[in-house]
Amino acid sequence: MAKFEYAPAPESRAIVDIHSSYGLFIGGEFVESAGGGSFKTINPATEEVLADISEATTEDVDRAVKAARTAYRGVWGRISGADRGKYLFRIARILQERAREFAVLETIDNGKPIKESRDVDIPLAAAHFFYHAGWADKLEHAGLTGGGGAPRPLGVVGQVIPWNFPMLMLAWKIAPALACGNTVVLKPAETTPLTALLFAEVCQQADLPAGVVNIITGAGATGQALTEHPDVDKLAFTGSTEVGKAIARTIAGTRKKATLELGGKAANIVFDDAPIDQAVEGIVNGIFFNQGHVCCAGSRLLVQESVHDEVISKLKRRLGTVRVGDPLDKNTDLGAINSAAQLDQIRELSAVGEAEGAERWSPPCELPGKGFWFPPTVFTNVAQTHRIAQEEVFGPVLSVLTFRTPQEAVAKANNTPYGLSAGVWTDKGSRILWMADQLRAGVVWANTFNKFDPTSPFGGFKESGYGREGGLHGLEGYVTSGGDR
Ligand code: NAD
Repeated sequence: MAKFEYAPAPESRAIVDIHSSYGLFIGGEFVESAGGGSFKTINPATEEVLADISEATTEDVDRAVKAARTAYRGVWGRISGADRGKYLFRIARILQERAREFAVLETIDNGKPIKESRDVDIPLAAAHFFYHAGWADKLEHAGLTGGGGAPRPLGVVGQVIPWNFPMLMLAWKIAPALACGNTVVLKPAETTPLTALLFAEVCQQADLPAGVVNIITGAGATGQALTEHPDVDKLAFTGSTEVGKAIARTIAGTRKKATLELGGKAANIVFDDAPIDQAVEGIVNGIFFNQGHVCCAGSRLLVQESVHDEVISKLKRRLGTVRVGDPLDKNTDLGAINSAAQLDQIRELSAVGEAEGAERWSPPCELPGKGFWFPPTVFTNVAQTHRIAQEEVFGPVLSVLTFRTPQEAVAKANNTPYGLSAGVWTDKGSRILWMADQLRAGVVWANTFNKFDPTSPFGGFKESGYGREGGLHGLEGYVTSGGDR
């Protein structure tokens, strides 16, 4: 197939001003960490050190929770919903105004292609603030308390997020919490703290009262200290199932509420009556969007046996056109793997896939010499028992399985400990509805994949977690009909 040649089209990074070091954002200002420790954040595409980031200690976590409690009691838990809405609208507009800066910074710190941070992550983050700004003064009409009067905030919320959508996950967490009248202490992932720290500047720019949003940086130990803090009313966590289970154990028996958004191993199911060319685009989007670092990625392709060969040959042809390389280049489809540790995990599980007998294929593609890279990879002849069919690879790796009947597709799709999302490709509306009813997944996409909207709830079944984010269901996790604390 003829291949288009592209001239380099790099986005300028002049718009971002990365400081050499960052403090913690507590009580409305940047402060030094009590222990004085720090760690480095790097650009995964080049391994260039970007900045020194403060490591928050237990003492810092305590300071941040106290600042959030003071802001909750003194201001945020008292002002009207309309006033909270004004602040959220202000933040949303600033995010739009500074969208290019956020997108470039996200791409540099995370490794994702600029076209994704520019067209997906940042616009959606702003949309979450706009959506929740609209709810702030209408909560008593939202039916959240089952007729039990006006909903009340929970108080101080601890929030811990992963590295795959740093700014978007921040928005999913902070916007609903603030709309409902809570104050927050948020910990971004240790490999991608920069956009959260830029967001702290946005809070200052928006004149958000001090302590309403606190950003503390650090690794797992900092997250654990936040989880264990006795004055945190709710924990909202997005990350791995392993850490999610540890958090659930930590808070068991306490009064703390929790929302856990965990891992996934989604089935993307293609029936023989599906529009195959569209389905191939959906398969590519499902697993190669964001380097496959997506909790709801369509990492298991279930394809009906009669169209298997056609789908795989079209898929391979299409993958020959995927451009891997400089994340800041506007024509790049697949950027860098976020960290050396994640690259190791992808390499290890891919090697296991081969050793267990699956057939491995990647298009010819030249990977940059520096940084963390992995080519788009497809495994065919995958069996249900293979680890690549059961475990989350969290990288650009697709496992292909086949089925003959809808019943078999459902049985195979549901045969994992996870249940976050699924995709169905078919011409028949009745089959879509039947499949959606049978699939044990929080989100089922029909003839599309990886579509997100702030009005739509997102969350998992089984070991993919509990609670929902987005939409009315997401607000439920941030209010109570009981008394104020
Ligand atoms: P991770 O669980 O290792 O880390 C997530 C966050 O938790 C990080 O900020 C980390 O510092 C912190 N953390 C680590 N140990 C902790 C502890 N003991 N206590 C408290 N916090 C702790 O996950 P990751 O590797 O950063 O992210 C990838 C995982 O996130 C994948 O499994 C993916 O499926 C999942 N994810 C889920 C969703 C969703 O909405 N369901 C969205 C994005 C990512």
